[in-house]
Amino acid sequence: MSYHDNRTAWFEGQGLWQHIPESDWRDWTWQLKNRLTSVAELERYMTLTPEEKAGCLFANHKLSLAITPYFFNLIDREDPNCPIRKQVIPRAGEMQVSAEEQLDSLGEDAHSPVPGLVHRYPDRVLFLVTDRCASYCRYCTRSRLVSNAQDYNFHPEYEQGLRYIEAHPEVRDVLLSGGDPLLLSDRKLEHLISRLRAIPHVEFIRIGSRIPVFLPQRITPELCEVFKKHGPIWMSIHVNHPKEATAELKQACDRLSFAGVPLGNQSVLLKGVNDDAEVMKALVHRLLRMRVRPYYLYQMDLITGGSHFKVDVRKGIEIIQALRGHTTGYAIPQYVIDAPGGGGKVPINPDYLEKITDEEVVFRNFEGRRFTYPLKSTPVPSPAGAPSAEPVSEPVALPAIRP
Ligand SMILES: *Cc1c(COP(=O)(O)O)cnc(C)c1O
Ligand code: SF4
Repeated sequence: MSYHDNRTAWFEGQGLWQHIPESDWRDWTWQLKNRLTSVAELERYMTLTPEEKAGCLFANHKLSLAITPYFFNLIDREDPNCPIRKQVIPRAGEMQVSAEEQLDSLGEDAHSPVPGLVHRYPDRVLFLVTDRCASYCRYCTRSRLVSNAQDYNFHPEYEQGLRYIEAHPEVRDVLLSGGDPLLLSDRKLEHLISRLRAIPHVEFIRIGSRIPVFLPQRITPELCEVFKKHGPIWMSIHVNHPKEATAELKQACDRLSFAGVPLGNQSVLLKGVNDDAEVMKALVHRLLRMRVRPYYLYQMDLITGGSHFKVDVRKGIEIIQALRGHTTGYAIPQYVIDAPGGGGKVPINPDYLEKITDEEVVFRNFEGRRFTYPLKSTPVPSPAGAPSAEPVSEPVALPAIRP
């Protein structure tokens, strides 16, 4: 059952679209025009399960169905449990709404001083600049807004948003998101970024995008020039499973890195996709090899029709525990819950701390061994004594966290 990653293989090629000229395949507008958006198009290439078929028919009322040919190739069409398939092919579970779920589960609309801008934290804002994505993730937190399937009629107000930021000197960090900001044209993006760059108190500009994963062809040299010219621009990409780390994604990340864009990754913990320590370890190792630093692992937000993706938080903690100390520190994301209703991101960590008093801190290491770090200095009369930070117990299992 343990996941095995073939670490030397990076998926590459046109897969089902061998007959297409390579110049088309590498053209991001071709990829967008040829997205799979209906049951009929999907069924040309694969057999849908009844659950998927029902989900697809419902999708137009919730969150549109769209998959780029590039990303569709990553699906194992023989395996109904394929982790790539689950992310983009709707299932009947989307129709099942639970009592605790909400359309605007993070209370973003309530923290929105102007349309498309969320100002929740003191020094930074989330600027939603489009409602479109290259493909649609079935667990999307902003499904109310993106794809317009729910008639939210989102019209980003660039001018109002920019004026709000100009008028608020406390805003030093602007996060461009959506939808996917990299679906804007180079010209529009450059205009937005240069307007932000011209605001003296804006020190930090970053972009949240899943385009490198869904549509790596969009990361053109021209786009990278924009980032180079107006940098530093930081970027968070969104990879959930090691299978998404293809040769094309790696090349896109290379281009971004060489243009001076520091890269981070955000994953969402999803049932049947990446709720497994071995899968997560393979993912974070591949990310490091692409110069991408794992940033956040999100507990899924309480979005409507999302319960079929929900993972027990204790499982998430167990995954972090399986990484910390067992692999490169750079590889470990911060596991967070975005507090329902709008409390912001809160880190959820394995508990290594056992006790803290005025005298000492008692804690366990990644192997479960207990250590003590003294907080009080005790002067020694003559020759220096032995170090006191000695293991004081046999290894034991870390505090029980199993479901
Ligand atoms: C996630 C988020 C940010 C950025 O948070 P960081 O922890 O700085 O990455 C800013 N504003 C909102 C509303 C967010 O949801
Ligand atoms: S790319 Fe982001 S905004 Fe777009 S559907 Fe996926 S999670 Fe939602």
